[in-house]
Amino acid sequence: MIQIDGSQGEGGGQILRTSLSLSMITGQPFRIDNIRAGRPKPGLMRQHLTSVEAARAVCSGGVFGAALGSTSLEFTPAKIRGGEFTFSIGTAGSTTLVLQTILPALITASTESEVVLTGGTHNIHAPSTDFLQRAFLPLINRMGPSVRLELERYGFFPAGGGRIRVHVEPTERLRPIELMDASPISARSATATIVGLPPSIATREIGVLSETLGWPEECLQIRQLTQDEGPGNVVSIDVGRQEITEVFTGFGERGVSAEKVAGKAAKDAQRYIDAGVPVWRYLADQLMLPLALAGGGGFKTGRLSQHSETNAEVIERFLPVRVLKKCLDKGVHHVQIAPEL
Ligand code: ATP
Repeated sequence: MIQIDGSQGEGGGQILRTSLSLSMITGQPFRIDNIRAGRPKPGLMRQHLTSVEAARAVCSGGVFGAALGSTSLEFTPAKIRGGEFTFSIGTAGSTTLVLQTILPALITASTESEVVLTGGTHNIHAPSTDFLQRAFLPLINRMGPSVRLELERYGFFPAGGGRIRVHVEPTERLRPIELMDASPISARSATATIVGLPPSIATREIGVLSETLGWPEECLQIRQLTQDEGPGNVVSIDVGRQEITEVFTGFGERGVSAEKVAGKAAKDAQRYIDAGVPVWRYLADQLMLPLALAGGGGFKTGRLSQHSETNAEVIERFLPVRVLKKCLDKGVHHVQIAPEL
């Protein structure tokens, strides 16, 4: 049984989710201790517990010790099967993080799947559904499978109640991809979405985006949704190149000004544009696992987050690969998946 220390590196929920994904696929059981020891409230929260439950359901696995607040558990996988699944987080916990836990298994399963997840769809510290639809999934689909995500209802913290539906056509073999060059930017757009909040919030956000990014009016839009899906506010900025679209997100929070929400996302997007690399911080840590499953591929990115470093360590515990990281110049990094020697 593989022993995982949940306090290593970043000490967050990703250590558990990556372990679940790779345990399912490799058939190796694992035990994890010190779950989320690096977080203010350690142990399993609803999102993590739902990830464990989803992984168990998809591979008919066995779980020992999983309960709210648990800091240790054991997971024994069995056979992966595609099919119809519904998982409800029960809070505004992130549906996209639960999805990412089971997606590696579903894209390599022998049959198609349809997954419905309820909870949060636009959560701080998690990929938004916009990010998955336009940044992450197009790259996954280039590796062979076909994954389509529909946002059926928005879910914001703290109300939750969002719903996504995901259709997965698996592939027999994942193809590695290389994302080494940043071709010229060919598409750019930004949207300020408000649900059940004053329209002036979105207007102020668009003002900041226009000023910080210097994009023309036709690239910027406001989306106002019905009251019952909120309240919530999110700013989403797309920077598209031929081979990749990166999505930068600002999440509205109580007590944080609209200017700050939009300003932070816009600065992040501008840093990416100035860096001239194809892959930015969040995609970097999320691409490592699918590439490792494909047994090869790589990308150029900016500075590597501690999150990426930790994810690479966990991946190397389950798969016969090395995640090679090389600093090129001025904080530019090359990440390459190579077979273990
Ligand atoms: P914890 O509560 O322990 O922090 P968690 O389960 O919420 O854990 P993390 O371990 O922090 O998760 O992992 C969060 C994941 O969300 C990472 O893969 C990261 O790339 C992704 N992520 C965070 N913010 C964004 C964002 N703005 N856009 C896209 N992805 C994001």
